[in-house]
Amino acid sequence: MSAATRPPRVGVLALQGDVREHLAAVAAAGATPIGVRRRDELDAVDGLIIPGGESTTMSRLLGVFDLYEPLRARLAEGMPAYGSCAGMIMLASDILDTRPDARHLDALDITVRRNAFGRQVESFETDLEVDGITGGTPMRAVFIRAPWVEGAGEGVQVLARVPDGPAQGRIVAVRQGDVLATSFHPEVTGDRRVHQYFVDMVAAKIE
Ligand code: GLN
Repeated sequence: MSAATRPPRVGVLALQGDVREHLAAVAAAGATPIGVRRRDELDAVDGLIIPGGESTTMSRLLGVFDLYEPLRARLAEGMPAYGSCAGMIMLASDILDTRPDARHLDALDITVRRNAFGRQVESFETDLEVDGITGGTPMRAVFIRAPWVEGAGEGVQVLARVPDGPAQGRIVAVRQGDVLATSFHPEVTGDRRVHQYFVDMVAAKIE
């Protein structure tokens, strides 16, 4: 295999949520960032990030922008994807505590619970070891009305669990094939390791 001759084109679904931070992180990780709002933009990317935001709103907007079926199709073909927080919810196969009409993308064999950490700890931060990404130097993980993974199928690698506190042991980062998801928001801390890991996944795919 020869090295790719161009930087990978990494899209950020730009319907809603913290799009700008992800675009900046993708650029810092050496990829070409592309905001994705239209079908032709989706067709142009090698991989896609689904940002944090609000999953039921994002679900509705995917329908409004005629992106739901095309995005499902690209994921079914094996396009690499990374979902953060609401993005993790969108990629899951099962969602607990959501609206009955919310649609999701079925790209990860996981059951997620929305807003799982409860009212007392809607937002919190912790230092997290993420398998294959942090290598002994934990990263600051910021959780904002985050989901956790309540069940994962056999093909799913668990990359991180909450180390302590009331949610100790809960799964908050997973990978299955070329699909990655975190409950937390690495785009807000300036730590680029999760984005670098994803950009490297996408680059490996286009080599
Ligand atoms: N609670 C949000 C949802 O259900 C996710 C929060 C986030 O992305 N920061 O979609």
